[in-house]
Amino acid sequence: MDAIIISVGNELTAGQTVDTNTAWLSQRLAEIGAHVTLHVTVADEVAPLEREIRRACELADVVLITGGLGHTEDDLTREALATVLGVGLELNERCLERIRAYFTQRQRPMPQANTGQAMFPIGSTPIDNTCGTAPGIRAAFGRATIYVMPGVPREMQVMYERDVGPELQGRAAGAVILARTIQTFGAGESEIGERIRDLMSRGRNPTVGTTAQQAVIGVRIHAAGAGRTEAEHLLERTAAEIKSRLGPLVFGEDDDTLWSVVTRQLIAAGKKLSTAESCTGGLIAASITDTPGSSACFIDGVVTYSNAAKTRLLAVPADLIAAHGAVSRPVAEAMAHNCRRLSGSDYAISVTGIAGPSGGTPEKPVGLVYIGLADGGRCDVHEVRLGSFLTRSEIRDRARKYALNLLRLRLMGR
Ligand code: ATP
Repeated sequence: MDAIIISVGNELTAGQTVDTNTAWLSQRLAEIGAHVTLHVTVADEVAPLEREIRRACELADVVLITGGLGHTEDDLTREALATVLGVGLELNERCLERIRAYFTQRQRPMPQANTGQAMFPIGSTPIDNTCGTAPGIRAAFGRATIYVMPGVPREMQVMYERDVGPELQGRAAGAVILARTIQTFGAGESEIGERIRDLMSRGRNPTVGTTAQQAVIGVRIHAAGAGRTEAEHLLERTAAEIKSRLGPLVFGEDDDTLWSVVTRQLIAAGKKLSTAESCTGGLIAASITDTPGSSACFIDGVVTYSNAAKTRLLAVPADLIAAHGAVSRPVAEAMAHNCRRLSGSDYAISVTGIAGPSGGTPEKPVGLVYIGLADGGRCDVHEVRLGSFLTRSEIRDRARKYALNLLRLRLMGR
């Protein structure tokens, strides 16, 4: 089953909105074994829209269109579709009732313009929109079945999951493709590649590839099977093999982040964390508290940016700072140790470093970061040289990830 996805909207062609619908739909289509051959982005203009719909219907069995179903004058997808089908638009009373009910429920008058959303090309069928006003449209042309869905990502996703996806799944005779990403931190893409090179060879099923995103290396697996059970089995086997080869470099799967994983670990162990940050300016505390449930494991965090604040809030001796500099092993150690003592936490993380772009010296270059990790038994300090080629925000981000990864490993008993 060949599929083409068309996303419609001036905001997309102007680069103001990033087209996430196409990526999301492509992943869903892959899961049911459909073969996506083309992505098209078109402005809200009838002629190009009409041309692209026509062309897609010659090339694919399924054409998914998102956007341009709104009630404003620049929403032209239904008109373009009607022109392609060579029919006029007619009012669907049931849809009009549903749109009216949408406004009644919200105690708002229905603008006249919304009536247009109940107009459908003759011979097409509506698809219910359970979280917005614009219904979708199902139609047939050439060799293709066309599904038009709203541009608003959530509305489109709910419509796909409820109606379009199950319909397509029934039609797709091909393989079921399942995907998973194994998330790693602590080694570069080439080192990861070395360790799983044989699994990455072309033509293998499952296929395995790596992606690097700000020092997190994801290992993406796509498994194809005649049915879901077979695909799941293949996926599980390769995922287990990758995890065993990469060991503690693996911190999670799919949407896991270092902070969500560390939060889970802390909660499971019944342990509390506090943070003392300088160059990361509270990023670590913000990441942990971004995770639901973090109140069960996070006590407090201080941002001690100036030397005086390190002394006032963390009792770091002023002469220690004077002797070694604020970016130094002894200061990172004192920050972590005192932070844990003052807050009564089980673990304390400290970070002090040079985020740049200025402030570096030959001995202490931009990208030099000291990370302290204290628990009841010991206080380790790691010297990390992140490299002065990174931007300020990259250095801060890497320092945060590095620190959280150290805590993750410590919580694993390493
Ligand atoms: P509405 O009834 O809200 O007008 P619509 O089907 O006409 O629905 P659009 O007007 O095309 O949808 O888009 C609505 C909003 O959805 C856009 O402003 C944009 O923020 C978002 N959007 C549209 N298309 C995409 C896309 N392909 N990827 C991500 N976001 C999108």
